[in-house]
Amino acid sequence: MVSSKLSNASLTAVAQRIRDLTAQIHHHDFRYYVLDDPEISDAEYDKLFRELENLEKQHPDFRLSDSPTFRVGGKVAEAFQKSRHRVPMLSLANALSEEEFRAFDVRAHRFLEVDPAKNLEYFVELKFDGLSINLTYEDGTLVSAATRGDGETGEDVTQNVRTIRAVPLRIQGGAHLPKLIEIRGEVILPVKDFEKLNQEQGKKRQKLFANPRNAAAGSLRQLDPAITASRPLTLYTYGFGYSEGLSAPTMAAYEDLLASWGFPVGKWRTVCHGAEEVIRFYRKIEAQREVLPFEIDGVVVKLNRIAELDRAGFISRSPRGMVAFKYPPRQETTIIEDIIVQVGRTGALTPVAIVSPVQLGGASVRRATLHNQDEIDRKDIRIGDRVVIQRAGDVIPEVVSVVTDVRTGKEIKFRLPVHCPVCGSAVEKKPGEAVSRCVSRNCVAQLKERIRHLVMIDALNVDGLGERIVEQLVDAGFVKTYADIFDLKKEQLLELEGFAEKSSENLLKAIQDARQPDLYRVIFGLGIRHVGESTAKLLARHFAEVEPLFTATEQDLLQVEEVGPEVAKSLIEFFRDPEHRKETKALLNHLQIKAPVRAAGGRLAGKTFVLTGTFPTLARSEATQLIEAEGGKVSSSVSKKTDYVVAGEEAGSKLDRARDLGVPVFDEAALLKMLGK
Ligand SMILES: [Zn+2]
Repeated sequence: MVSSKLSNASLTAVAQRIRDLTAQIHHHDFRYYVLDDPEISDAEYDKLFRELENLEKQHPDFRLSDSPTFRVGGKVAEAFQKSRHRVPMLSLANALSEEEFRAFDVRAHRFLEVDPAKNLEYFVELKFDGLSINLTYEDGTLVSAATRGDGETGEDVTQNVRTIRAVPLRIQGGAHLPKLIEIRGEVILPVKDFEKLNQEQGKKRQKLFANPRNAAAGSLRQLDPAITASRPLTLYTYGFGYSEGLSAPTMAAYEDLLASWGFPVGKWRTVCHGAEEVIRFYRKIEAQREVLPFEIDGVVVKLNRIAELDRAGFISRSPRGMVAFKYPPRQETTIIEDIIVQVGRTGALTPVAIVSPVQLGGASVRRATLHNQDEIDRKDIRIGDRVVIQRAGDVIPEVVSVVTDVRTGKEIKFRLPVHCPVCGSAVEKKPGEAVSRCVSRNCVAQLKERIRHLVMIDALNVDGLGERIVEQLVDAGFVKTYADIFDLKKEQLLELEGFAEKSSENLLKAIQDARQPDLYRVIFGLGIRHVGESTAKLLARHFAEVEPLFTATEQDLLQVEEVGPEVAKSLIEFFRDPEHRKETKALLNHLQIKAPVRAAGGRLAGKTFVLTGTFPTLARSEATQLIEAEGGKVSSSVSKKTDYVVAGEEAGSKLDRARDLGVPVFDEAALLKMLGK
């Protein structure tokens, strides 16, 4: 062995250096993976890591049992060994609605014999949607990790769990640290990493994961730990199993203890007094669900006082003092009955799956988007397939993946048609674009979508001119261009099914009322690709009229805040087309556009605001209008570019972020003062 050539003194020095490096790397892992606040650069970290690897290679006897080099993988296993939990991992009862949660609270009062008028104290935290894990530490060192399994016995995944950087291989500090302790947590894959992983799986023609939870489970249950090490799994801990001699008065205190030992605990946790406070927290988190970096499926509510929790006891193996307060599911499986093709405003052909009706996020779903042919190919979606569909927020549901195991062989592959399904014109697919488009100028489908877009609430806002009526007007040949809307006659409307004297007059009046729009509404209403409402506002403020856009060069357009090359190109292409210019001019002849809000020179010119929470007197939209009228800008997320955050009651994560970034925060009163009100 190489070691023998060294003197005892240098051997001692090597052993000491290995101990130092091990401790340093643990510290930096904690800063990076748990606190998200690294002290050194990745390059410096790599240097320390490589030095340790080299020393350990030369002196394997000195490698410590908690060496961070265990994190890069280990021996490939043939099968997972069984591992029995010292204290069973329990399952929680569910509350699937606010009513069910209130009923839980009523029961808790009853079995604790507490006056129903008194509020119980609850500890509430997020319910991470991942894989439950039991970590066992002996004398502060991680000795084993096991999946939940049936609650009594799980699978030994120690080698794999060691590769997760957020998992402490050695517990920091050690106040009150028992000799033997089980820590409970959830292994998760953040949403962004999940999407990236699925992209790569798709490219390699490998099976896609339906959701981050499946991906986390699939990544952890790998016989080759090197594969697990390559997946950016992380961990949140929330409780204890076996923990002799450990005691704290409340659940909150127990979690503080975990945090003080260097375990990652969610920062979204709170103590609530009474059921209604819990419900408010539950709703607040639900509103942020889309922007959280990981998936959750509810909140976990526990009696905070350990004495009460113990008194509550168990019912059929679930603790009676805890409940999983769940959100409606966002994924379901269903069958694709057919695939149809819709033609959009810009001629884009979108394949849409007609699925067997299924309840999702509180609504019955019948359709799910398939995006484009590339997506269909990547996910290998066929008619007749059983698929996982998902709905996030208000977005139209999408097909996430196929359950290939249940294929019968009768499923039919789908190809987008080479002709527009509505007008029959040829379909074009530009190189580098995923989308196929109908390029006909006379496509009725495109016309209907363009008109619908122009009159929608965020554009000209013609009250009562809905999808069905637009369809009727176009089909009857009364509307062929934007301007035709303003030339509609009562006699024409009366010809249409469902129109009577009164309803015709109402619609014509609504059209008259829409003749004086804000400039940005017109620009947005033209339906130019990549020009959304906020871009339209910036263009309106910059150009003050529509006409300069006809001849604006790329250079001119790039002067506008937030306009990049893609948007500029799209605007130039749109207005270079003589047909578009002609139609736009004809529309403008019918409108008296309101002067845009004051541009540069307002009190708040050049300042970016973010609004969060509920204000005492102003609605959020009113505050936005006031700020914009003074030349300020309102953005939806806090970044380094944010100048001020205005916070009201129940301000959420934006406030935390503002504080993290050191952005000044003030209240409505201060805003009004700034506005000179
Ligand atoms: Zn067409």
